Amino acid sequence: MRIRENVCNGCGQCVAVCPVQAIKLVNNIAVIDNNLCVECSVCYRDANCPTKAIKMDRLKWPRIIRSPFSNVIATHKLTGIPGRGTEEMKTNDVTNRFGFGEIGVSIEIGRPGVGTRLSNIELFTTKLSKIGVEYEKDSPVTAIIADEHGHIKEDIKDERVLSAIIEFKVPEEILPQVLRIIRQVEQEIDTVFTLGIVSRFMKDNSIPVINVLSQEGFQVRPNAKINVGLGRNF
Ligand code: SF4
Ligand code: SF4
Repeated sequence: MRIRENVCNGCGQCVAVCPVQAIKLVNNIAVIDNNLCVECSVCYRDANCPTKAIKMDRLKWPRIIRSPFSNVIATHKLTGIPGRGTEEMKTNDVTNRFGFGEIGVSIEIGRPGVGTRLSNIELFTTKLSKIGVEYEKDSPVTAIIADEHGHIKEDIKDERVLSAIIEFKVPEEILPQVLRIIRQVEQEIDTVFTLGIVSRFMKDNSIPVINVLSQEGFQVRPNAKINVGLGRNF
């Protein structure tokens, strides 16, 4: 993103909407810190710039990778899915990705206001790949894992995005190992992350994964979501 300094009137509307505080007024002119900017396009779309000073230039590789991880209205070119490129796990009632005996796991790294470097993904994936998790194939993060060891493609590691979601599934007996890895990375990472777990209700309505999470020291807040898939064709 670029601001034409000779056109900006210093109204500050773009400063207020930027989710990562990348825009500042300097001598009453808006200036973007390109190191912080995640190319989410919010300033371009929502600042209602009175002088049309905000310009969206064509991005080059590797910087262009910032946009699909940060722009909520973009459709991801690799997965063809709008809204940062992933179905996420909550649609399991229609996608049926996680069966009985399987646990779906998502780790969303970064949030609005904080963001993350893509290198933070590797803190998890290099450890998770050792225990043989099955990454979701239609996921933007899976697309940037370079090898079976969980390394992220070298040329994009330093790129900064709003957030990135690692998605995978494991047999339920592997879940304790996953949770211990998450505790380990918690001590190393320099941003926030959110852990999501999906499992099916058993036929007697019990949810065994809750006990596993409690035993590993995780406070559980069960959240049932029923997605009936209206508007979807399978
Ligand atoms: S909204 Fe436009 S005019 Fe106002 S500070 Fe930002 S770039 Fe300048
Ligand atoms: S594109 Fe997004 S991150 Fe970059 S300056 Fe605009 S609002 Fe901020």
